[in-house]
Amino acid sequence: MIRNVDLNEISNGKLYDANDLVKLGVEDCAGCHACCCGTGDTLNLDPYDVYRLEAGLKKSFKELLAMHLELRVADGVIMPFLRMDKTLEITSAGVSVTEKEACTFLNSEGRCSIHDCRPGICRLFPLGRIYEGEGHKYLLMEKECHKERRVKIKIRKWLETPDFPKYEAYVDEWHGIVSAITDHLSEMGEDQLKARNMEILQKFYFLDYDISRDFYEQFHERR
Ligand code: SF4
Ligand code: SF4
Repeated sequence: MIRNVDLNEISNGKLYDANDLVKLGVEDCAGCHACCCGTGDTLNLDPYDVYRLEAGLKKSFKELLAMHLELRVADGVIMPFLRMDKTLEITSAGVSVTEKEACTFLNSEGRCSIHDCRPGICRLFPLGRIYEGEGHKYLLMEKECHKERRVKIKIRKWLETPDFPKYEAYVDEWHGIVSAITDHLSEMGEDQLKARNMEILQKFYFLDYDISRDFYEQFHERR
């Protein structure tokens, strides 16, 4: 999701590339699940996230929507977001709390139950992306994570995503597709906006991916 914020308010103001070492590692998030609850409409999913979930959970997009995702409008674009509406009694580090706006994938120990196929935005945290020209840089939103980060790690390793150069190129392409709408919102009529949104939803989300095939091939066929 595109956020228009002052970088100095949320980060140290530095921009990084994927090969940069950044203090990202905590020993463990144990005892904390702050970024998996009450995040409202910030955790949106791109088509690769949906492919990963379809492959990892053996569910169709419609089944995911029925249980774990919801469609919302962000910056004029309709896309799936993680649902944050589970009420959960969480016990971790010997402390129990009731969370009323928990991600549906969070378990009762305050851990992500789909760690291997979690969406890109969860992998990224506490990093964010800033898009410049046709590429992007990373920023560290150090004021948004509640634990001290001590271990330096390369961003590309932190993201735990295979075929990393392809992934980075895809991220920029997808941003371009979304920006083609967000940058021209004021020029689009209501019908045109609706038609464009329906086309993107159908083509990149509702049409299930063949999980036996490479995602990027299918993404490029659909473009
Ligand atoms: S806020 Fe930081 S420490 Fe807490 S769960 Fe998220 S990443 Fe882990
Ligand atoms: S998918 Fe996992 S990591 Fe992401 S918000 Fe939900 S529980 Fe947290």
